[in-house]
Amino acid sequence: MSKVMIIGAGGVGGVVAHKCAQLPEVFSEILLASRTESKCRAIAAQLDRPIRTAQVDADNVPELTALLEKEQPELVINVALPYQDLTIMDACLAAGVHYLDTANYEPLDTAKFEYKWQWAYHDKFKQAGLTALLGSGFDPGATNIFTAYIAKHYFDEIHELDIIDVNGGDHGYPFATNFNPEINIREVTAECRHWENGEFVTTPAMSKKTSFTCPEEVGTFNIYRMYHEELESLTKHFPSLKRAQFWMSFSENYLKHLEVLGNVGMTGIEPIEFNGQKIVPIQFLKQLLPDPSTLGPRTKGKTCIGCVVKGVKDGKQKIVYIYNIKDHQDCYKEVESQAISYTTGVPAMIGAKLMVEGKWKNPGVWNIEQFDPDPFMEDMNKYGLPWTVVELDSFDLDN
Ligand code: NDP
Repeated sequence: MSKVMIIGAGGVGGVVAHKCAQLPEVFSEILLASRTESKCRAIAAQLDRPIRTAQVDADNVPELTALLEKEQPELVINVALPYQDLTIMDACLAAGVHYLDTANYEPLDTAKFEYKWQWAYHDKFKQAGLTALLGSGFDPGATNIFTAYIAKHYFDEIHELDIIDVNGGDHGYPFATNFNPEINIREVTAECRHWENGEFVTTPAMSKKTSFTCPEEVGTFNIYRMYHEELESLTKHFPSLKRAQFWMSFSENYLKHLEVLGNVGMTGIEPIEFNGQKIVPIQFLKQLLPDPSTLGPRTKGKTCIGCVVKGVKDGKQKIVYIYNIKDHQDCYKEVESQAISYTTGVPAMIGAKLMVEGKWKNPGVWNIEQFDPDPFMEDMNKYGLPWTVVELDSFDLDN
């Protein structure tokens, strides 16, 4: 029986609130806090069970610390934006509260995300006897756990990893992003990095494309190699990996819009002067685009996200594919959200559940793959993200 504070009332925050509210025996009390409290209240009104809401600016450490000290939750589930990770970790340390997030820290003024800033908090969390769990969404999150589970149960040593994230859904808008537009566009316009023989190799954004046929008739999609944050932690924690790549599906339409927006400067993160006021183009663009949390009713189709792992078992080469398929409309029926927020919010709830149950508690800062994957995998099957493992005879994305 634990009290949790969810920070962030966007698409993902809504799903986390729904899923935690479904488990009163685990999450006895829920406080949903965000910058705009009316958004918290709108989510609370969707639930079958009363939860409390609060206004907080998570960039302000003293303000957040005071709220945490007053409310004394056991754990903060941070589903605000990556810019807030460090201030929320600081407030958790000050107030003695465990911490969980779904995306690694990114400075507002540099489109660069890496774990070094959060890993630097390890000793402080350890000394305080607090656990910080990093990257408990789907990717990062479930993809890290899939890798850890497959490495544990199917291989003696893993050598190659391809994480493949396909969104076969369509929301009917000419252009919209499935999660926070600013974060999404910063991520997909960043140059690509993949792991090859012990180092990251850099290539231009979206320069490698191939096609991938998803299982269970989800369809065939163009996928593009890009950098994604779990590559950093997975290559560190599975040093036997010789190659690791991340692939994501994009429609031609999405990429064409992005190219044009980029060409005219709308995806820039540097402030520009406009009518005597400073504006950041990408933040202005976010205001114009559909709010991802409103895409639920109109998104149809399925997501298919998983990992293909190659390695050796008992001296023999093997290839294993593990994946989850999720229907956007099924998610909407259950929690009033599309599948991207759903597939992020459910692993956040599961990570939180394992922490408050004491199954995943260890003072320090940890990436999710550093914990035992088995209870997480069990809970994915129970709470809406069932997975399938198949052995493949061959697999080559270079064709
Ligand atoms: P949204 O933009 O929909 O929601 C973000 C929420 O955070 C909003 O409610 C926003 O408030 C709130 N917020 C922003 N700044 C502050 C602040 N300073 N203080 C308090 N609250 C604040 O984003 P999503 O729900 O789509 O994404 C949430 C997180 O999940 C992001 O970090 C994203 O990167 C991550 N994510 C992870 C994925 C994974 O698989 N691991 C996949 C998808 C997302 P306001 O309403 O006032 O703007």
